Amino acid sequence: MMRYFAVTFIFYIIIVNCHRSGRTRKNVTIIGLFHPEELQEQTAFRIAVERVNLIILNDTTILPHVEEVSANDSFNISKRVCNILAEKGTNAVGIFGPRAETAIGIVKSISDYYEIPHIETRWETTTRKNKMAINLYPESKLLAQALMDTIRDMDWKSFTVVYEKDEGIVRLQELLKSHDGLAKGAGQTPFTIVQLGEDPDHRPLWKKIKTSGETHIVLDCSADKIVSILRQAKAVGMMGDYNSYVVTSLDAHTIDFEEFKFGQTNITALRMLDPSSAILQKAVQDWIFDEMNHNRTASVTSNNLKIQSALMYDAVHLFAEAWIKLGSLYTTPVPIDCYSKEGVQKSIIKISNGFRLLNFMKLMQSEGMSGKMAFDNSGLRNYFSIEILQLIDKGFKKLGSWDPKNGISYTRTTSEMAGEQLQNIKNKTFIITSRIGRPYLDFKKGEGLKGNDRFEGYSLDLIEEIAQELGFTYIFSLVPDGQYGSLDKKTGQWNGLIRELQERRADLAICDLTITYDRRSAVDFTMPFMTLGISILFSKPVKQPPEMFSFFKPLSFDVWVYMVTAYLGVSLLLYFLSRCSPFEWENPHPCNPDPKELELTFTLQNCLWFSIGSLMAQGSDLLPKAVSTRLVAGMWWFFTLIMISSYTANLAAFLTMERMDAPITGVDDLVNQNKIKYGLLRGGSTANFFRDSNVSIYQRMWSTMESSQPSVFVKSNDEGVERVQKGKRQYAYFMESTSLEYQMERKCDLEMVGGLLDSKGYGIAMPFDSPYRTAISGAVLKMQESGKLQQLKTKWWKLMHGGGQCDKRNEATPSNELGLANVGGVFLLLIYGCSIAFLVSLLEFLWNVRKVAVQERITPAEAFLLELKFVLLCHGTTKPLRKPREPSIRGSFMKLDIINKK
Ligand code: ASP
Repeated sequence: MMRYFAVTFIFYIIIVNCHRSGRTRKNVTIIGLFHPEELQEQTAFRIAVERVNLIILNDTTILPHVEEVSANDSFNISKRVCNILAEKGTNAVGIFGPRAETAIGIVKSISDYYEIPHIETRWETTTRKNKMAINLYPESKLLAQALMDTIRDMDWKSFTVVYEKDEGIVRLQELLKSHDGLAKGAGQTPFTIVQLGEDPDHRPLWKKIKTSGETHIVLDCSADKIVSILRQAKAVGMMGDYNSYVVTSLDAHTIDFEEFKFGQTNITALRMLDPSSAILQKAVQDWIFDEMNHNRTASVTSNNLKIQSALMYDAVHLFAEAWIKLGSLYTTPVPIDCYSKEGVQKSIIKISNGFRLLNFMKLMQSEGMSGKMAFDNSGLRNYFSIEILQLIDKGFKKLGSWDPKNGISYTRTTSEMAGEQLQNIKNKTFIITSRIGRPYLDFKKGEGLKGNDRFEGYSLDLIEEIAQELGFTYIFSLVPDGQYGSLDKKTGQWNGLIRELQERRADLAICDLTITYDRRSAVDFTMPFMTLGISILFSKPVKQPPEMFSFFKPLSFDVWVYMVTAYLGVSLLLYFLSRCSPFEWENPHPCNPDPKELELTFTLQNCLWFSIGSLMAQGSDLLPKAVSTRLVAGMWWFFTLIMISSYTANLAAFLTMERMDAPITGVDDLVNQNKIKYGLLRGGSTANFFRDSNVSIYQRMWSTMESSQPSVFVKSNDEGVERVQKGKRQYAYFMESTSLEYQMERKCDLEMVGGLLDSKGYGIAMPFDSPYRTAISGAVLKMQESGKLQQLKTKWWKLMHGGGQCDKRNEATPSNELGLANVGGVFLLLIYGCSIAFLVSLLEFLWNVRKVAVQERITPAEAFLLELKFVLLCHGTTKPLRKPREPSIRGSFMKLDIINKK
């Protein structure tokens, strides 16, 4: 440092001597009008003049004339400016300042009238009419654009502007106009404007802003007030993790933000001066050197230099550079008497070439302490560069820069930003709001449990994994109203978990909370950790016990009756037609060519036998001969062919399947009936899906549900599931597929009917613009990629609390073999049939016994014993014919025989 001062000092001496030894220099004066508090600006003006005299100008010496003027007394200002102009030998060639809006008017008129270049360094509106002015302060529309781009880049949907002076709102009007247009286009809430009152206690105002829920603030006030205003915001809790501030003052970097550095509040400031710029550093060193040279202590550094001072310094340099080019054309100005009564000719009193000098300045593109500059035709600065700063624990850190050509360009990489976020999240304790609902969160069994140990579930495991990954701690708390979060359209208020986040009572909300468009407009969500859709929960059909006589089922009772009728009818018809047709009467003794009588083959008995034989696909040894009977037989065979095929085809299905009674297969079936009621969880995203749907079928279902009495809505999924179970297939419940799967793993009497009606996901919610979103989202993504999410799901769905029950049950069910229960009836029928046959044979046997007894004239008991003996011997296939005996022996039997013969 000392070496630098020594070299500069020698250089300074050489230049001064060269100047002094050279040609005579022309003296001109520039007037600097400053307000009393602008001490740094005055010094900047003086030092800049000294520097340009030394380094830039060679045949002219500029003399700085500093006038301290009051902001509110334009008459006094005009008097003082005119006095300087009228002074002989002053040769005033330019006016710099003043800054106050109230003081500037008179100076502008004087400079316009006498064509004295007027150089300004203050904020002003775009509409200007003064031909003799040039302003180094950034053009107001472009500055507003820089602010707007910064805010837009931070993704603020709404914000509140807190401003100090009336001019503040004028300054921000371009910003407000453009945000208003954008917000309306995007259907967002625009901004709110609040003015800081005269009263230095601004806490009531901050409280109001806090109650409104606003967290984004644009603070427009003088730099020296920023800290005290923010301190009051902090006192009412407006400087938390989720609050963000943009400070509009371009001097914010000169303020000590020490007490806010370690808070988590996002404070963004804009700065025109780049302390690392070589020009600025050199200028500051020159400044310090000059001050030392004049035995003054220099308090300026590249970090506390005010924008006005830098602009004033640049303004003098800009003027001097223009003067080098055009100064030789400048004739010595004539003293100007503003109050001359004679009316001095304007052409004489005008400063020659003043207008040209100003235009030349407008065309120049130079670089100063405030960076590169360029001007438009009206003398407004249309090129400048702004740095976007963020307050971190080490002070302000540059995030990027803005200029009118390129807009925002960030200097921080995304990985740097992610690194910073990770650092912020470490050691933080998050309040996590949730609700009870298995398997996401439930009370753990056991006594004396405290804190997070009271709970268990998927949500707890999920956040535990994320906390370990990111290094934070957490406290679980239950949402008082137990709701997920729905918007009351009348009041515009949210309830449940969403409200907890909105009112900053919690940092995160975790449960089966669906990401929806509406909720996304109130809170932020991470990446979804589970995907799902709405489906229908219904109870499985009750298994019908297998029926013994299920082989009758393939044909309905009516068909069986018709078949029996047809059988009898056809048999009778066959009998009748056989009797009618001569071809069915046959010779009983075919060897006798001349029979005395003919015999009918198709007796009634035979007809019945023929028909049943065909019906049973067995056929018989009787065959019709006449055309008519053959026709009947043919038709009957055709009939039996179709009936037996149909019966066989249906029989397989009826024997292998228990009858499934499935009254609904999807929403279409539900909507087209009114026997089965259907409902859903009140106040959840499932309800909103139906309520807000544009699909007519869902609209119809919603109005049906709304008008159902008693109500079909339930307070929790558990209640809905219970209602389905108890509803005896009269109640279907719309439920999210993940929760539905959980229930189906445990309650095997439940099933999912139809597919998914939509597709969505569960996410972790957090207050809007939460600085932790990216980090937590990243952790969720990592868990997804590593398969951890799937592991957690398997744990809570399949393994814990009796999961996988129904899988086991399905495994245990044997394959669809036919049991005795299915076909027992056939056996029974066989037994009955055989028993009847036995009875009939018994009757036939007794009948034969009686006949034998009569024929052989023995007692029935003897005949019975004889016949029985023969039967039981089971020997021989021939049976002797028994002859009647002599009447003497058995007189009584003979009598009976005679009676019989008669
Ligand atoms: N998960 C849903 C929600 O976030 C609840 C539901 O409707 O089933 O609202």
